[in-house]
Amino acid sequence: MATQTTVIVAQPAMYGEAPCQTTCPNCRNTIVTTVQRENGACTWIAVGIVLLLCCPCFFIPLIIDTCKDTRHSCPSCNATVGIAKKL
Ligand SMILES: [Zn+2]
Repeated sequence: MATQTTVIVAQPAMYGEAPCQTTCPNCRNTIVTTVQRENGACTWIAVGIVLLLCCPCFFIPLIIDTCKDTRHSCPSCNATVGIAKKL
């Protein structure tokens, strides 16, 4: 009798700034994530730095996407699949 072993290699998901294809851990569908920007630690550090250098411009990091974390969510069940943090 032959023993068949199926090895499933779970690849660590590398989430970046762009939507990526992955399997949703919630609904098990193969999905392309939808990305949403949200303020993270990096955003608030940037706010602090700008506040020290140029007070009236402190809000700028809050409107610049490059300072923000990227939240990947499932388009079919809306579960959060992963978050790409800047820090
Ligand atoms: Zn899902």
